[in-house]
Amino acid sequence: MFKKYYNPNLQYAKNGFRYNNYTYFLKEKFGERIQRILIDGGFTCPNRDGTKGKSGCIYCNNKSFSPFVNLSDNSIKSQIMAGFNYFNKLNAKKFIAYFQSHTNTYAPVPELKKKYYEAIKFPEVVGIAISTRPDCLDQDILELLKELNNITYLNVEIGIESILDKSLNWMNRKHDYQTTVEAIEKLADLGIDVTGHIILGLPTETQNEMLEMVKKLNELPLKFLKIHHLQVIKNTPLANIHKNKPIKLFDYNEYLEFVSKFISHLKQDIILQRIFADAPLELLIAPNWHKRSPEIIMDLQKLMRDNDLYQGKY
Ligand code: SF4
Repeated sequence: MFKKYYNPNLQYAKNGFRYNNYTYFLKEKFGERIQRILIDGGFTCPNRDGTKGKSGCIYCNNKSFSPFVNLSDNSIKSQIMAGFNYFNKLNAKKFIAYFQSHTNTYAPVPELKKKYYEAIKFPEVVGIAISTRPDCLDQDILELLKELNNITYLNVEIGIESILDKSLNWMNRKHDYQTTVEAIEKLADLGIDVTGHIILGLPTETQNEMLEMVKKLNELPLKFLKIHHLQVIKNTPLANIHKNKPIKLFDYNEYLEFVSKFISHLKQDIILQRIFADAPLELLIAPNWHKRSPEIIMDLQKLMRDNDLYQGKY
């Protein structure tokens, strides 16, 4: 018989969850269900426009950052309104505007300011999330983020991807790990809630090296973490590499086992926003686990329960 799990040190691990879950954080913070509305702010990326590179990170296909609406009028307002309509059917009344596509701090400050403020002017929008690269946060942009953080709930998401420069080079990220550390520390010093994105299963790293990553992540002032497994997406440099010489990718059970161990080494005040990658099936080459997200989450909870694992155990 399944005993309800309760761990007083894991504030947002409710209903049997064995790790802090972002959904419970949002519910506690805002008192009700919150949905994220994905927004394409029309930005580009220094690793695509030639400033740092043209081909982008090897796994990146911008279509996989798919805002859920395809609108003829792609203004921020239209995207927000479409989000309201979509989520109202699911009974959500409050929203976080999530600037997800490309590098969302990569534009002149007045343009950034106009777009961010356009998104937060709706009373239903209770916060804003901004996803970016660690090397696109100069002092003026940090000032703008500080201002934003004083008037709404702000979450800045930083692509860490790996703590090893050999992996960052392999991915063609065009920045090093030290840049990431400095960006996260500057944001956290401003009182901003920071998310780190990481990728597990890079062919440049052993499982021991990936577990070493947890120690480094535990030292960073991160509020949230998004864990992705490496996926090969169509129309990316990685797809060509994989076609010429297939890369060993996590199979389903192997990933669940590894990520459960990874989470067990993670300190107990980090909140998990994501525990696996979730590219649209029409773009996914491999690995295709033929599993839906709720099933993956349930299987992971069961595995952690059966092995008495929980976030922070180690
Ligand atoms: S993953 Fe991000 S940083 Fe890399 S090319 Fe794509 S948009 Fe640019």
